[in-house]
Amino acid sequence: MCNIDFASKQLNMIKNRIHRAALEANREPTKIELVGASKQQSVETMRAFHQAGLSHFGENYLQESLNKQKQLQSENINWHFIGSIQSNKCKTIAQSFNWVHSIDRLKIAQRLAKFTMQNDQAPLNLLIQLNVDHELSKSGVGLTEAPALCAQIEELDGVIARGFMLIPAPSKSLAEQRRPFEKARKLLEVTNQRYGLHLDTLSMGMSNDLEAAILEGATMVRVGTSLFGPRL
Ligand SMILES: *Cc1c(COP(=O)(O)O)cnc(C)c1O
Repeated sequence: MCNIDFASKQLNMIKNRIHRAALEANREPTKIELVGASKQQSVETMRAFHQAGLSHFGENYLQESLNKQKQLQSENINWHFIGSIQSNKCKTIAQSFNWVHSIDRLKIAQRLAKFTMQNDQAPLNLLIQLNVDHELSKSGVGLTEAPALCAQIEELDGVIARGFMLIPAPSKSLAEQRRPFEKARKLLEVTNQRYGLHLDTLSMGMSNDLEAAILEGATMVRVGTSLFGPRL
């Protein structure tokens, strides 16, 4: 049940949230990319949002995403892989996406680089997923290991280390929400200084915490339910 009016209205609402948060942070709203987290949303929904002006989509499940990509082939979409990565899927992921947000070990980055080179494709943009609250989640790289991993990825041809992605545990107050995002922002600065890198991307902020993320420097927000509505 999704038409372009609904999509336009939703897209405007989220863009307004981004705009307001950016202004509060004294930042340029156009420097914040909206990625629609479209897992378990229908192709029809995605098509309507694309027609309404959304051009970046993030997908978690490879098979689901490939089916959608086939049906949306004629659209000019930037595809982001934001789910967990199995090593035997790297070839397909390298072929099918422009960005991968969920790098958690060097081996995955090496394999993606290898297949990107083999296919003679444009370099793949990589984000290292940070584990900002160890006790709660197993996915992602610890803050102490992340800088060196970025430096190792920088050495690879076929991929470009662009920055960090994180999914903090939910918290209620804005001040609490900001804390892990602040850590990520500072770590990006430290990493650039220590290794002379030019990491420029912080993928952080979802439906419930995008304002906090933008206040701490998010350059990409990944929004699902607040944008598209409930998942199927
Ligand atoms: C589902 C998902 C999102 C979007 O979550 P919402 O709370 O629906 O906005 C963002 N990032 C990742 C990695 C996701 O899996």
